[in-house]
Amino acid sequence: MSARGGTKGIDLQAELKRGDTYAGFEILDVIFFDELKATGIHARHVRTGASLFHLLNDDEENLFSFAFATPPADSTGVAHILEHSVLCGSVNHPLKDAFLVLAQGSLQTFLNAMTFPDKTIYPASSTNETDYFNLMGVYGDAVFRPLLEEWTFLQEGRRYEINAEGRLDLTGVVYNEMKGNYSSMDSIAADWSYRSVLPGTPYAHDSGGDPDDIPKLDWEGLKRFHANAYSPANCRIFLCGNISTERQMAFLDKRFLSQLESGHALPAPQKAERWTEPRRIQVPCPLSGDSKSTVLLSWLCGDSADGNETLALAALTEILLGHDGSPLARALVESHLGEDLAPASGLEGELRETVFAVGLRGVDSEAAAKVEKLVLDVLGRLATDGIATDDIDAALKSLEFSNREIRRSGGPFSLSWLRRSLRAWLHGGTPWDTLLFEPRLAYIKDNLASDPRYFESLIKRYFLDNPHRALVSIDPQEGYSERKEAELRASLDAHGKAMDEAARTDLKASSDELARIQALADTPEALATIPHISRKDLSREVETIPREVGAAGTIPTLSHDLFTNGIAYVDFAFPVDILDPEDYLWLPLLSRVLVSTGLPGLDWGQVSSLLARTTGAFYSMLQSGSLAPGGVRSRETPAGILELGGRDWLVFRLKALEAQLPAALDLVKRLLVEADLGDLTRLEDLVREFRNDLDSSLAPGGHSFAASRAGRRFSRSRAIDELWGGISQLEFMHKLAEGNVSSLASALVRIRDRLVSHSGLLVNITGSGAALATTRGIIASSFSDFGAPRPRSAKAAESSDFFELVDTGDRGDEAWSSASLQVGFGALALPAAPFAGREQAAELVLAHRLSTGALWEEIRMKGGAYGAFAHPDGLEPLFTLATYRDPAPARSLDAFTSALLSASKERIEDDDLEKAIIGTYSKEVRPRSPSEKGLSDFMRYLYGIEPLARRTKLEAIVDMTADAVADAARRLHEAKRDGYIAVLAGKTEAGKAAAALGAPVRTLPL
Ligand SMILES: [Zn+2]
Repeated sequence: MSARGGTKGIDLQAELKRGDTYAGFEILDVIFFDELKATGIHARHVRTGASLFHLLNDDEENLFSFAFATPPADSTGVAHILEHSVLCGSVNHPLKDAFLVLAQGSLQTFLNAMTFPDKTIYPASSTNETDYFNLMGVYGDAVFRPLLEEWTFLQEGRRYEINAEGRLDLTGVVYNEMKGNYSSMDSIAADWSYRSVLPGTPYAHDSGGDPDDIPKLDWEGLKRFHANAYSPANCRIFLCGNISTERQMAFLDKRFLSQLESGHALPAPQKAERWTEPRRIQVPCPLSGDSKSTVLLSWLCGDSADGNETLALAALTEILLGHDGSPLARALVESHLGEDLAPASGLEGELRETVFAVGLRGVDSEAAAKVEKLVLDVLGRLATDGIATDDIDAALKSLEFSNREIRRSGGPFSLSWLRRSLRAWLHGGTPWDTLLFEPRLAYIKDNLASDPRYFESLIKRYFLDNPHRALVSIDPQEGYSERKEAELRASLDAHGKAMDEAARTDLKASSDELARIQALADTPEALATIPHISRKDLSREVETIPREVGAAGTIPTLSHDLFTNGIAYVDFAFPVDILDPEDYLWLPLLSRVLVSTGLPGLDWGQVSSLLARTTGAFYSMLQSGSLAPGGVRSRETPAGILELGGRDWLVFRLKALEAQLPAALDLVKRLLVEADLGDLTRLEDLVREFRNDLDSSLAPGGHSFAASRAGRRFSRSRAIDELWGGISQLEFMHKLAEGNVSSLASALVRIRDRLVSHSGLLVNITGSGAALATTRGIIASSFSDFGAPRPRSAKAAESSDFFELVDTGDRGDEAWSSASLQVGFGALALPAAPFAGREQAAELVLAHRLSTGALWEEIRMKGGAYGAFAHPDGLEPLFTLATYRDPAPARSLDAFTSALLSASKERIEDDDLEKAIIGTYSKEVRPRSPSEKGLSDFMRYLYGIEPLARRTKLEAIVDMTADAVADAARRLHEAKRDGYIAVLAGKTEAGKAAAALGAPVRTLPL
């Protein structure tokens, strides 16, 4: 059951009433929120003052979160270091890393901890009740009773070490993390977008930690901060889901609250003193790439606990910046004063006061004043001449849409209710002051009805007449990093010289002690304190998603009747394997252009505005996969026989409110057929934008490039995926960006026309019964020209053609170098067991164990890489091991094979096996939003994944044996001679990898 998934909420009236007391809690309020289909129960723990808010609904995925107000008084990063440290052992669970142990063997659907500028939150969720209370028990103990030993502070915070040359060094997890943060211009700009206008408040400091200030914190300071901020009186406990409030209150009281001192609630951060004059702020930053600045204008707006005003500002932000055609966004981009809109542009609504920021990235530093003038001119003109009604309409529709949609982004939808509640709750209001949407929207609409110039008046009040404004420029400086490094070196050397012999001996002893503790395994007794459920409790049933195969005129359709809260999802799938292999490299660009360009008579700004008014979203994706073993090659549909069998598809996905389906489908039809590929200026922008996006995905996603490269020889579809999203695509786009735009346009037109006239169409629809019928009706009348999908061409069926396309070089392992990479990525791909068999199930369990065990310890803890993981892909089939932000990928390659070798010799203890089974199982049954359900059932249909195979796989996981896991490791280890390796790294590390692999170093085009 997904969040907001039901209509049963109305029956879930709490038994509790206002004024009741239960388990030490006093019930302050019980309110039914029709908008959320949930009952809100607000309670206070009488003795300690802990505040609790439960949104009781019919959702089986229960979420809890402990939240503490943690406004910082300096930039030592104490709140952030504490967030890391509390998870390193607590009184009842004295483990080195409780988070990792939970990740190994829990059914959790979300597990995290986050530090914000004024709060720290610890949320977790699960669909299994026993598991949920296990998580709550461990997290509660971690936050209220952490051990906070000195080694934890040294490991997670910062520590001095004497290096091989006898000099002093400074290191630590958060210290290194924040050094990374301070080398990214976008991160610095995001911080200063609000810090600039909030001097004298806690927000002027960096709660994450400024590397210059982190060393000023000591262990005592960390413990003091915990004692002061992590008390029940300063804690808000948020709950959401169907477990009764009474049981949760009883658990919290018995396990924690009845035993704790109450402490005191920290006061809400003070508001900033209002300025009478705008200010100018320049922030230096390291130089990376070119020397262009980011320029932002920031305004301090209003009280964020005022839900009405905050939503009105969010609506105004949407009007000004919501899409490419919005007036302020468009004026900024078309001014060519910079390259693109600064990512920090928008409304910050989660601090004590709201801040609006807008600006450009890639600006010449002397042009800052021009950016300021342009923004003020546009706002002035809008306030005087008025905002177009269409723009207001589009903005309100888009807010309504995103409020309505049942979404998941890595966790349950209730996470967004948590964050909304905390806006007011953290600063003295009730949790629902800022939770509800509909009354706020009604407030805006009322204001607009009585004053058509309502938004214009907000522009005057919050921007034009508001002198509390800063012009911020983030300016890269030549030699900045080098100077910082030299200053640090000098201060460390001075510090080192001042140490006497006794101090040096002490420091060495402390480093040795830390290394000793890090090398210790958790004791079985400590591990036994983390409870986990039994494999007997795991259901062997697979969820089936409703599917009806039908036809709309000549077009075959799949329909999924699901509760989607009034939204319809329509996927238009065109088989692209009617094209020749040479055309495949063009498809990523084409698929992007078709959803981001104008129509005859309408430029992109106008189309973008039309899309915002009539749809929730319209985007495209490319899909390739092999047919599952036993999957059918052709399916019968009322529109004729559909040839399937592992084909390649270009899928356009439309999201729209049911009421807007006719207009939305009409627009989609026009874009598919008539998209204006002749607008060469727009096309040039898109080519550059796409290439920049690919380039900037290399540093955060290098592991995908490496894995894709290593895996591309295992099947036709892996080879195609690499063409579409790997190094081959990167090289292709770099070539295109240098080429002639009009010949590029004619190639796109040729491929588009061939697709539209020749491929045929398959449509997948998800929504209510009425929406399904409406959509099929419109498809039958307006889309019938496309016809049903045609069989694939003989040429595109040949996998060898796809390998020929990308490669003339050697056919073995590869090492790629790029000057832009400070760290590297390594991947090893091995042939694996076929889909859904017992052997594949064993590989899944092995992969989970390696990712949360041997690889984590060897490559992350000892090797210093940020991450390492194993991933089986059953359809192709291959098994990939990869590292993430790895300082030495060549060294990690050995760790891959030695991890497999030791796993092949190991007989896993029963308890460890059970945990690995549970962790693997939880990924298989992960909850999905309705839109994800409709799409994954579509993929199962296309690639022949039947319920029986899914069930066999799930059962094989639950029944897994230690021998089968060891056998899987042995098979994979033996398969290494048939495996492929790819490494991406900076010059030095790529060179080392190439030498180890006996391959040449190849250079990436960036
Ligand atoms: Zn962190």
